[in-house]
Amino acid sequence: MVDLRSDTVTRPTAAMREAIARAPVGDDQYGEDPSVIALQDRVAALLGKEAALFVPTGTMANQVPLKLYCRPGDDVIVGRESHAVWHETGAAAAIAGVQFTEVGADGRFTAEEFLAARNPRDHLLYPPTTLVEVEDTQNRKGGLVWDRAELERVGAAAREQGVASYLDGARLLNAAAARADDPAALAAPFDLVSIALSKGLGCPAGSVVAGTREDVAAAVRFRRMLGGAMRQSGVLAAAGLHALEHHVDRLAEDHANARLLGEALAAAPGVELDLAGLETNIVVFHLGEGAPGAPAVVERARAQEVLVMAFGPRTVRAVTHLDVSRDDCRLAAEVLVAATAAGA
Ligand SMILES: *Cc1c(COP(=O)(O)O)cnc(C)c1O
Repeated sequence: MVDLRSDTVTRPTAAMREAIARAPVGDDQYGEDPSVIALQDRVAALLGKEAALFVPTGTMANQVPLKLYCRPGDDVIVGRESHAVWHETGAAAAIAGVQFTEVGADGRFTAEEFLAARNPRDHLLYPPTTLVEVEDTQNRKGGLVWDRAELERVGAAAREQGVASYLDGARLLNAAAARADDPAALAAPFDLVSIALSKGLGCPAGSVVAGTREDVAAAVRFRRMLGGAMRQSGVLAAAGLHALEHHVDRLAEDHANARLLGEALAAAPGVELDLAGLETNIVVFHLGEGAPGAPAVVERARAQEVLVMAFGPRTVRAVTHLDVSRDDCRLAAEVLVAATAAGA
């Protein structure tokens, strides 16, 4: 099987398993796990923040800014089809009691769009906007990368308005690799930022949130409240440290493989795909008139041992990662092009 459903399907490499086996550990809730401490310090430095906190999932990471900066009833501005709105089973509403306002067109937005949608804190009727959230890369719209200048403008506009800012950077290192940007420069405009270890970095679990020492100290409580305070979690942190050492430079390979897949698909008659936006490891394509629907394409591909995901009735996503080679992607491209053909 060539599994392109997500970059979360990777299994730890032999070298990562060795790093896990060797990890020094302690009880992290007493602040005694040296591997967790090392990972947190390393990510804080990577993102240019004062401190960082290891959490089990990106979904939990995304609850932290909502608990830190918002009160129930507040409004949070996000791009279209953000993970926080679409992929967290309503967590934000259930846990923080916030509502979302989506702005922009393709998952990204401008500072002007943020400002136009932002509500003041003291309006008689409107829910106050207390947080703006940016997703880079943007997952559902096809791994889109934000322009660094726009990140800076949105961050600056938020600060000016007294609105907190959060960067959901589950794939921020993909964004940095695609544009040869420094992750710390991308994170700089934001109060809080998260990265995932379990996506392109190939770890079995974990995300890290980074921000000021004060915010991270406050986040420790919310991690506990949400059930995410672990004990000898150094076994997981060790995988993260290994990945930051060995799996960052290779993200460019995933991007090249996605490009190969995307170029083949863009040339297929029934497929709509904007190659200009394809800069990272996520290929989202639409099935035009005459092409079969997404469920049929997924089934046809599965019969040829290629796994992809239906993202809508006529939308399919394929994601490249550590566990698929260039040859795997060549094969997958052939299979997917055939699967999208009319009446195949
Ligand atoms: C995957 C992802 C997350 C978090 O996902 P988990 O599966 O909970 O780790 C958050 N944001 C984005 C943009 C993601 O792609």
